[in-house]
Amino acid sequence: MSKIVHKYGGTSVGTPEKIKNVARRVKRVHDLGNEVVVIVSAMGHTTDELINLMHQVSDTPNPREYDMLVSTGEQVSAALLAMALQSIGCPAVSLTGGQAGVVTEDIYKKARIKDIKLGRVKEELNKGKVVVITGFQGIDSKGDIITIGRGGSDTSAVAVAAALKADVCDIYTDVDGVYTTDPRIAPDARKLENISYEEMLELASLGAQVLHPRSVECASIYGITIHLRSSLKEDEGTHITSASKLEERRSKEASKMEKKEAVRGIALDENIAKIGILKVPDKPGTAAKIFGALAVEKINVDMIVQSIHLQGTLADMAFTVDRPELKKAVEVTERVAKELKAGSVVSDSDVCKVSLVGIGMVSQPGTAAKMFAALSKEKINIHMITTSEIKISCVVKKESGKKAVLALHQAFGLEKVA
Ligand code: ASP
Ligand code: MG
Repeated sequence: MSKIVHKYGGTSVGTPEKIKNVARRVKRVHDLGNEVVVIVSAMGHTTDELINLMHQVSDTPNPREYDMLVSTGEQVSAALLAMALQSIGCPAVSLTGGQAGVVTEDIYKKARIKDIKLGRVKEELNKGKVVVITGFQGIDSKGDIITIGRGGSDTSAVAVAAALKADVCDIYTDVDGVYTTDPRIAPDARKLENISYEEMLELASLGAQVLHPRSVECASIYGITIHLRSSLKEDEGTHITSASKLEERRSKEASKMEKKEAVRGIALDENIAKIGILKVPDKPGTAAKIFGALAVEKINVDMIVQSIHLQGTLADMAFTVDRPELKKAVEVTERVAKELKAGSVVSDSDVCKVSLVGIGMVSQPGTAAKMFAALSKEKINIHMITTSEIKISCVVKKESGKKAVLALHQAFGLEKVA
């Protein structure tokens, strides 16, 4: 007997028919004698619709009432799934986050999960029932309903899997796994059998929006493997696990050994903008002033590049921000530039960021050179470059973004083998 945790996303429970499909799948797993816990999201676009309703009654909605409202979507799908299970002869019970013992911080709308007190869940499992839990919510120290941030059901599921000490958390969604890049850009993108937490986090935060990043963070802390897969097929999806487990698996399955790729995936972020400050006095404290002022305004800064200006006592600086924050970021930067007696502030929103991700890069020299050569062959000009141990990012003109992804996908041999 194993402990199995399934999570179904909004599209997988989007209609009564789909809920019945999920019930049949869950029953099969339960019939094999497993203990099964299911975490659900709200049906389809329910959460957006609830938020839309909210805006029709208030311009300044109270955060406590926001949580009270948006958490209801998950209650609907959890109750319906429990009923669908019961109607095909599978004992089941639905529980809210609070009933399931999901305790969060006292922060409305975006709390982190602090603890899961599994008493009730275990009681119901011992009675032989499938336990269906609402994702996305818990309760705080006052007993108020709290939500944990948009897309948070993935994190609810991994946290429950960790508390139950399940080995795997199956996350069922409308894509069938993690791909080497967005298949809408590169039709020959390949589904990855597995990927490490670190790589997945980079891809998730780089705009490959398959999983809530906090779910990957939680899985890595508790050593839970996430199996991301399609609710419409029986096929294996992508296993997201630790780099060391991946190594073990590869050496065990020597016949199926994947060739060690330096680059596992390519991400494109089209939601960025670039800001430059010219002729900043090159002395201690200037960067702290500029980025301190941006931080006070809660503007998230990503790539930062500083270069020495010809005169030696001056430097040019450039950085990127999320595009919706460009206007505010320019205002703040202009204010600080004046204080610092720097030169002009320039900005460009017609850019995007292309990134290569892979833990194998650490041990394989030449990845950056190969990237730049592939871009130059396509006559794509690079505006900015940053690197980390497992990622190389380049800012290029927006119109070249997709072309860059295609060229790199090919240069690093990531496409499907025919
Ligand atoms: N229903 C919530 C949302 O739409 C949580 C989730 O789907 O993960 O954000
Ligand atoms: Mg989701």
